[in-house]
Amino acid sequence: MVNSPSPYRGRLAPSPTGYLHLGHARTFWVAQQRTQAAHGELFLRNDDLDRARCRPEFVAAMIEDLRWFGLTWREPVITQSERLPLYRAALAQLHAGGLVYPCTCSRKDVAAAISAPHEGTPTHVAPVSDRRTGATATAPTFDDEPHYPGTCRPENLPPAERDRRATWPFPGHNWRFRVPDGETLAFTDGHFGEQRAVAGRDFGDFLVWRKDDLPSYQLASVVDDAALGITEVVRGADLIKSTFRQLLLFRALGHAAPAFYHCPLVTDDHGVRLAKRHDALSLRALREQGRTPEELRADLK
Ligand code: GLU
Ligand code: ZN
Repeated sequence: MVNSPSPYRGRLAPSPTGYLHLGHARTFWVAQQRTQAAHGELFLRNDDLDRARCRPEFVAAMIEDLRWFGLTWREPVITQSERLPLYRAALAQLHAGGLVYPCTCSRKDVAAAISAPHEGTPTHVAPVSDRRTGATATAPTFDDEPHYPGTCRPENLPPAERDRRATWPFPGHNWRFRVPDGETLAFTDGHFGEQRAVAGRDFGDFLVWRKDDLPSYQLASVVDDAALGITEVVRGADLIKSTFRQLLLFRALGHAAPAFYHCPLVTDDHGVRLAKRHDALSLRALREQGRTPEELRADLK
């Protein structure tokens, strides 16, 4: 009997905005282990859409550090900045379905939407039960993208302005996805168990396209996960809220959503979540100090 190839497909999706640290390594190691356990395939996606923060030297460093740590992936690397037509087609599809609208509000937060919303600090820590152990674990909730009040929803505009904005493609503006107010969204996280959020209450209409003509992280990530046939997304727990937005996008674009496995965040000795500013815990710095990948992996257990 011939075994059919495993359908499991996972991905590592770092952003080349700085050096990778132990927190990234830990999440990626989990992603690799889950892929291997399922005899699946792992892709490396280079999330380089943030022109202001991404640098080519960080792409090279990222690849070197990942290899050093013991990660392997299926070539070629998927580079988001080379895939703009795909994202643009998805925006057109959402527009045709009446699911997005242009937003002319000028807000500082708009500029941040291109990166995954990691940077916030936890606003509250919700206890959730861990499916595997039955123990109560904590899933941090991040105050990520500010809640948009719906100012530019077509029904809130004067008719003349509504008509003006109905022209497609209406370039030079941000576009938001209209969330189904009041709908409860749920998924079973592979690590944290049952997760729920109410659209319009826990998060508002979110950006899918920016006026500088680039997709938001949410849209680009969903389009790529669908295009690559990713079956399970493994990433940090600070993206749990983004997952609800992404579930809406998978549905709106007519794709089945993958499974999700969010990893607990690695904190420093003071309980502060690791960020790229923790240079002392970057993989580069640890390697220069003579630490070995084996040793670092053992510490993560
Ligand atoms: N590039 C994003 C990040 O750095 C990817 C998040 C994801 O895995 O979807 O967090
Ligand atoms: Zn607006």
